Amino acid sequence: MRCQSCGSDNTNVIDSRESKDGLQIRRRRACLDCQWRFTTYEKAVDERPIHGPTFNVVRKEIETVLMKLSDSMLPVREPESEYQI
Ligand SMILES: [Zn+2]
Repeated sequence: MRCQSCGSDNTNVIDSRESKDGLQIRRRRACLDCQWRFTTYEKAVDERPIHGPTFNVVRKEIETVLMKLSDSMLPVREPESEYQI
C-alpha cells in the first residue's frame, strides 16, 4: 500500500480491525518516510457488498424463494446494521 501523501511504499500497518459486519478490514497505516497517517478500508471478502434499500429488497426476495425451495434452509447471517462500519 502506497502512502497517500508522498507515494512511498514504506508504510506500516499500525492498527487493523474488522468492521462489525465482517465485510471490511479497517487498517490504520503510517508512512515511514513522511510520517503521514491514513486509514484504508479493504474488502474482507471477494464479493463487494451491495448496500442500501435495493439490496434489502433483493435479499428479501431471495430469502422468500429459498424458503419456498427448501424446508431445510441454511441459516441467514443478519448483520447488526447494514450501514455501520
Ligand atoms: Zn509518505
